Amino acid sequence: MSPAELITVTARGLHCAAGDFYIDPWQPVERALITHAHGDHLRAGSSRYYLAAAGVDLARLRLPAEAAVHALDYGERLTFGDAQVSLHPAGHILGSSQIRVERGGEVWVVSGDYKRDPDPTCVPFEVVPCDVFISEATFALPAYRWTDTPTVAREILSWWQDNRRRGLASVLFAYALGKAQRVLAELATLTDETVYVHGAVAALTDVYRARGIAMLPTRPATVAVRADYAGALILAPPSAAGSPWMRRFGDHRTGFCSGWMRIRGDRRRRGYDRGFVLSDHADWPSLLRTCRESEARRILLTHGYTDALCRYLREQGVEAAALRTEYGAED
Ligand SMILES: [Zn+2]
Ligand SMILES: [Zn+2]
Repeated sequence: MSPAELITVTARGLHCAAGDFYIDPWQPVERALITHAHGDHLRAGSSRYYLAAAGVDLARLRLPAEAAVHALDYGERLTFGDAQVSLHPAGHILGSSQIRVERGGEVWVVSGDYKRDPDPTCVPFEVVPCDVFISEATFALPAYRWTDTPTVAREILSWWQDNRRRGLASVLFAYALGKAQRVLAELATLTDETVYVHGAVAALTDVYRARGIAMLPTRPATVAVRADYAGALILAPPSAAGSPWMRRFGDHRTGFCSGWMRIRGDRRRRGYDRGFVLSDHADWPSLLRTCRESEARRILLTHGYTDALCRYLREQGVEAAALRTEYGAED
């Protein structure tokens, strides 16, 4: 790409020379605009961070205490050099944003991670018209289509109840930031029972609760003895699977909540007893719809199945290309 472009990929990350700032940089920089608090987008070491107010407490939990973090409201405009920037909801997790950058009437939008499905834990995705749209492509294959969330929540509840009837604990793995809280919020429409949570989930859930997100009551999975876990639901990050931490639960079944659970081969390979298809990313139809609604004449893709989406967009007459970024692993 030529240096006249509004946003380019550099060794440190997505860079806007006109405003002298980076977006979700993977190396330390002076000024970092952050789409959301997942580890591949928010990294320690930069001098100043700018992100949506709703995500500031999550960012503080993940950055050193001395980090300078500035909160922005959605839609609030800031001027950096020759560029005007604003944040707009991405519907991915609490406080997640797309970043709109404008210079001399030209508008670029960086999506960060996003989804279009309803989620009680965050503000819904906003369509932001632009000339160039930089989109994620995590699940950009036609096979990835999500089931509606209330259906998935009912599946989780009946799995939990079936296990309970057999005296088993239900250990449900979900990303500690975002997915776990979404599960707790969705289940709250169906039951009012208490759920045990792993420590990594507990700290983040406290932040969501302090932000007024309604979720099932939780209790740390440290307070109970083995007998108490029979029939219980325990939420834990995928990294806890197979660890000694699991021994306390006695006889149990495991489940995993993820978009990856759409594909049978993935379900089998990952070795969970049950897969629940629940993703915080856009599925294939939502990616196509969002690219179309952006009205962008050019679309650049950051991470995921970029080839398939590139090919599709080019067939539609849209200029499309993949960027080399270091995004990908959510936790
Ligand atoms: Zn993310
Ligand atoms: Zn990501």
